[in-house]
Amino acid sequence: MKNPWTCPHCGKKTTDYPAICRRDNKTEICSECGTAQGLADYFKVPLYRARLIADHIKECQERALSWTVETGEQK
Ligand SMILES: [Zn+2]
Repeated sequence: MKNPWTCPHCGKKTTDYPAICRRDNKTEICSECGTAQGLADYFKVPLYRARLIADHIKECQERALSWTVETGEQK
């Protein structure tokens, strides 16, 4: 287990494996910020909008996973 560290971008404490900032290719940022940067580049939207997209995707994934569990139990 990694020691908790603080993401310089969002200030969140995390034990996640760090992502490398796409802006300078050296700063270690949390995986959420890494995902947001990737989405921002992909959709060509500002970072704050990319974070909303990332949140939405996470929500959808969690919902999809709960569906898998439910259908699994019905079999
Ligand atoms: Zn972060």
